[in-house]
Amino acid sequence: MLELKTDGIILNSLNFRDYDQILTVFSNDQGIVKLIVKRAHSKKNSKSALTAPLTRAEFVYVKGRSEIFTCREISPLNQHLDLRTKWEDLTAAGDMAKAILETQMPHKPAGTLFELLHCYLSKIPSCIDPNALAASFRLKILRHDGLLHLTPDCSICHSTLCDQHIAEGQSYCGDHAPSGALTFTSIEMETLLLLTFSRSLSILAMTSLSIELQTKIVHLFKCAIS
Ligand SMILES: [Zn+2]
Repeated sequence: MLELKTDGIILNSLNFRDYDQILTVFSNDQGIVKLIVKRAHSKKNSKSALTAPLTRAEFVYVKGRSEIFTCREISPLNQHLDLRTKWEDLTAAGDMAKAILETQMPHKPAGTLFELLHCYLSKIPSCIDPNALAASFRLKILRHDGLLHLTPDCSICHSTLCDQHIAEGQSYCGDHAPSGALTFTSIEMETLLLLTFSRSLSILAMTSLSIELQTKIVHLFKCAIS
């Protein structure tokens, strides 16, 4: 059987039968793939150190009839051990993994998001507020998937906005905001735009987020993907 190789980040690992594990991997070339690792956690030949979520590795696998491919080899490239020392860092990393699981389809390549996830995971330990990076990651997924079209003016009357009302990823003024739109003050908009558009990881690493804005971004994300 033809062996294939992919570079991927483990988003989830699930024990299966007595010794096996099923990994959900975000790969650089095929989006989300599921791999079964035989005898992943047997006492004799445990691979569980290699199959922890957030590990980036090269996977050698074979395709079969099932949607779940058989993993033959795992060579770790980065186990992101530095993410596992602080609860806040691990939570932000877990949040990013969850956002990928909630939005990306199996076998739909998303190489840009893969690179972004890798860069963001590596940056978390040097952030002043890992929640800001996790929020930025969610906003960038929405942009990548075409679900967020923030504009400086109302998408109906085109008046220039200070405070913005956002619904279904579009910007509105107070008069034209659909019911259920989220309101962001002009100060919150500054941070929101920075988190959405900034390509500078060092600037994002110095950005902090209020609990209110964090909650609004999580809500914005949920509404946009539902
Ligand atoms: Zn308007």
